[in-house]
Amino acid sequence: MKEQESGSRKDKFSELRQRAKQFLSEGMLPDGEPTSLEHAQQLVTELQIHQIELEMQNDELRKMQVQLASERERYADLYNFAPVAYFIFDAQDVILDLNLAAAELLGNERKFLVDHPITPYITSDSLETFIRHRQLALSTGATQHCELIVRPRDGMQQHVHAQTVALPSDSDSGHRWRSVMTNITERKQADEMIRRLSRAVEQSPASIVISDIEGNIEYVNPRFTQVTGYAAREVLGKNTRILKSDQTPAETHRQLWETILAGLEWKGEFVNKKKHGELYFELATISPITDENGVVTHFMAIKEDITERKFIAEALQESNIQLIATLNALPDLMLEMSRDGIVRNFHAARPEMLHALPKEFMDKDIGRSMPEEAARAIKTALAEAARGDGTSSGAVYSLTRPQGVCWYEISVASKGDPQSPETNFIVLTRDITDRKLAETNLQRANKNLQERLLEIEALQERLREQAVRDQLTGLFNRHYLQETLDREIARALRSDQPVSLVIMDVDHFKRINDSYGHRAGDLVLKTLGDLIRTNIRASDVPCRYGGEEFLLVMPEASLQVAYERARFIAARISELRVPHESVDLRITVSIGIAVLPLHGDNGEDVLLRADRALYQAKELGRNRIVVYREGINPDTLRN
Ligand code: GH3
Ligand code: MG
Ligand code: MG
Repeated sequence: MKEQESGSRKDKFSELRQRAKQFLSEGMLPDGEPTSLEHAQQLVTELQIHQIELEMQNDELRKMQVQLASERERYADLYNFAPVAYFIFDAQDVILDLNLAAAELLGNERKFLVDHPITPYITSDSLETFIRHRQLALSTGATQHCELIVRPRDGMQQHVHAQTVALPSDSDSGHRWRSVMTNITERKQADEMIRRLSRAVEQSPASIVISDIEGNIEYVNPRFTQVTGYAAREVLGKNTRILKSDQTPAETHRQLWETILAGLEWKGEFVNKKKHGELYFELATISPITDENGVVTHFMAIKEDITERKFIAEALQESNIQLIATLNALPDLMLEMSRDGIVRNFHAARPEMLHALPKEFMDKDIGRSMPEEAARAIKTALAEAARGDGTSSGAVYSLTRPQGVCWYEISVASKGDPQSPETNFIVLTRDITDRKLAETNLQRANKNLQERLLEIEALQERLREQAVRDQLTGLFNRHYLQETLDREIARALRSDQPVSLVIMDVDHFKRINDSYGHRAGDLVLKTLGDLIRTNIRASDVPCRYGGEEFLLVMPEASLQVAYERARFIAARISELRVPHESVDLRITVSIGIAVLPLHGDNGEDVLLRADRALYQAKELGRNRIVVYREGINPDTLRN
């Protein structure tokens, strides 16, 4: 429009000029109309008007120029001081122009940046994105967006949002493009912070509930679901009072609301109710959340399930009470001591256990407060524990007290690495006087018992002997023989050895009894027993088989050996003089011998045959030895 207007004005001006020129040279108007003065006058007027018009236009133009200059200046300011970075690049990423924000973004002065490529300022991670972004902008002609990380000359990496567009290219400048970069580092950091915060909230080991100011739930974290059994969707939009149980005092809730509505933080305990009605203890911190104007818009509750802790604390308190009761009941002195014998702490069930006033005890060497023997014993035990695995037990010391001698036992245990110089030791001394006394009594009782036991054993041994011995002669009795004979014979058979049986019977013994009395007879029998016993081998078994009948079992003795032995004994017997009153009693014996396996393969048979041999000896006139042989007349058998 303006161009058209100024064009028509130009035309008019050139027409006027044309006409004026013609008028001056020919006295004619251009259309051939003859000029008149009137015409000339009119022309001059028109020219003058146009002159004025031109001057006015000129004036306007000048004003516009001034305005344009100031606008350009304003634009330059805007460009230069814009808070976003402007760049103009050529096709090789060389910076052709940039504003102050752009220079600041790259951490360098404009003069060092212009005519240099931007690429050194783009991190290697972002470079590929940057190049693709520029290619797209140039090839499509459409505005492109991307995020880049820029590395200023000195300083921290910056996240930027780039908005790029290709500039119209002219023949001499080639491809050019402009990028507007906005620093989004803070936003990124804020995003990251929010991401971290929300992750922390999501993964928090505490239940987190965010509600509006009326208590309507807007957010719960997974821990809340875990504790209460309510899924998030079940509680969103519901009021926090769904958790309320009748166990929390009404006063607690009143105080809570009063505090948080006043914009303050509230801390306290609830007994709340889970989805399925189970009660649990919660320790809650509820804080108001305000908007930028300080108006409370939400509440955030951070809650911890302390049910278990409550129970543990209760149990702990109970066991503490028990422990104290136990400690008080123990007749013990408990010391915490450094390895060099300094008392660091103590507990005495009875004050006299300390042997000193508490203030003389604490932080003092034990040797200064306790009697010498006790201190020495404790220090020795302490040293033993410190040298070894940190423990020592069983050391004992005694002290003379008004009530008599008292005994104490020491146990030591280190509280940490026994080798470390910082480690303290727990030293317990226990009054074991009663135990000691009991021990002494027990020892005494034990000794008595032991003696009694020995007596009983001796008695038993005697009884056993009596059971197998004949009282008068001290030889084995018939009962024992029956037990032994089969055993001896079985053993002999196994080892392929003979066993000889020698039976002897006093001749006419009845006469001794009859002539000198039964006691004389006894004396003879006893003397005879002694004689037999002292004239046999240790392995031979002498028995009083009947009234005045003796049996000698001779393991491993052949017939020859048995016969020799019988002869020897018979000879000794015939030499025997048993003094009785004024006379020497004299006897002879008849002897029968049989040998296993020669005369039989079992005890009973061999014994029977020895007896037959004895009978034969009697038959043949007494005071003789007969060895069994086949064919002894069965008629001559006794009975
Ligand atoms: P012989 O054997 O030579 O045929 O004559 P004997 O007199 O020895 O006969 P007999 O065997 O019949 O008598 C044994 C006697 O020994 C009978 C009994 O009174 C006596 N007698 C048995 N046991 C004891 C005893 O323990 N003490 C005493 N004093 N006599 C006893
Ligand atoms: Mg007899
Ligand atoms: Mg006889």
